[in-house]
Amino acid sequence: MSQIKEIASSIKALENDLSLCTRCGMCQSVCPLYTETGREPDSARGKLALLDGLRFSLLSKPDGVMDLLQRCLLCGACASHCPRKVNSISVFLRARMIIAGITGLNPFKKAILRAACNNPRVFDMILDTAGFFQKKLSADIAGTSDFSCIRDGFRSKQRISRNFAPKSFSEITGTVDYRRQGSKGRVAFYPGCLVNRMYPSIGTASLNAIIDCGYDVVIPDGLVCCGMPAAASGDMGSARIAAEKNAEILKKTDCDLIVTSCPTCGYAMKKLWSVFAEKSGHNDSFDYVSEKISDISDFIIRYGEKKYTAPGPDSGSDDRKTVTVHDPCHLKRSLGIYKEPRIILEMAGYKVREMKNSDRCCGMGGTFSISHYDLSMSVAEEKKKAVMDSGADVLAAACPACMMQIGGGLAADGSEIDVRHPVEIYAEKIPNVF
Ligand code: SF4
Ligand code: SF4
Repeated sequence: MSQIKEIASSIKALENDLSLCTRCGMCQSVCPLYTETGREPDSARGKLALLDGLRFSLLSKPDGVMDLLQRCLLCGACASHCPRKVNSISVFLRARMIIAGITGLNPFKKAILRAACNNPRVFDMILDTAGFFQKKLSADIAGTSDFSCIRDGFRSKQRISRNFAPKSFSEITGTVDYRRQGSKGRVAFYPGCLVNRMYPSIGTASLNAIIDCGYDVVIPDGLVCCGMPAAASGDMGSARIAAEKNAEILKKTDCDLIVTSCPTCGYAMKKLWSVFAEKSGHNDSFDYVSEKISDISDFIIRYGEKKYTAPGPDSGSDDRKTVTVHDPCHLKRSLGIYKEPRIILEMAGYKVREMKNSDRCCGMGGTFSISHYDLSMSVAEEKKKAVMDSGADVLAAACPACMMQIGGGLAADGSEIDVRHPVEIYAEKIPNVF
């Protein structure tokens, strides 16, 4: 069978979703990428039309369609405004996996993704090497030790990159299996790659918050990447390995709850692992994880004992520090969580001052920010302006990837606004075990 026929036949699996789209165009008004470029294939409508083109063998260049499919932040704004409820993130991920599964992936990229999803030791070695070269090739940005400028290939431009943490989260904590008499239950914590290597303080704050809520906490050995970067790149094999491996490890902990402080990991665990590994025979484990997973701010509100007593957002005048909140796409749109981070910030004694369009995507989009750096930074401009216009002392973003994107942009502009995860702020006021 020719490649085109094979793709057309495989894309038929998406026909129920594809045929929902009436090409009404409502998704265009909310798509941060389409707003930036005005190009039809950058919108959900354009991408769905291209997939229909493949479905009916009207297009002869699947690589070109794949390139256009990759021009997407997977932010979900299109899906949340679609009158026909087209689940575009799921369609785009499945389409990427189908096309790359037939046309093949860049072997170097595939090797890195496979290491991240299958072999944490090899992945750690790759990241150590990347950290070594980052130090050698980058220049400091004045006023910050967290971000550097690195030359962008052979171009004269510079990229902003978050520095690797001097010590990873797993090195700081060692084995985590915290138990005590009379605890309310046992939580398995899933740190995720960015918390582990870039923001270990989010991980320690999360562990402290879980303990402060009265729970024991364990981080089981052998957890790997959540699989989202592999799925977004179309590497179905690696995403599948990640989903199966993590779900089996987490199920063996026999815990009461699972908590993460990365909403992209949380979204993958709650809703996507069964998509990454369809018909794999691991559905019991996927269901186990999906039922128990909570984002850390949701966990604190639902299972903690501290009650919210501070005055509401923007009410009255007082001398509390002000914090503005960015709503990460996968936390608000994919998991429905946006009140909880604000509540824990108020519980920590901060005053929430809302920014304009707090739920507009910051432009990160995972590996999108690497493959489409300039476009990613253009989308970030509006977010940076909204943060600065808020006049708040601190920006809280409950996602380490968003923190990297917005924090890097603000640092490069010389802004002194502190960028933090809500749980880091919350943990300032509780006992620290880690
Ligand atoms: S809003 Fe939904 S139905 Fe309308 S064009 Fe976009 S994806 Fe299609
Ligand atoms: S997921 Fe976001 S970037 Fe991608 S098409 Fe939808 S709105 Fe645009």
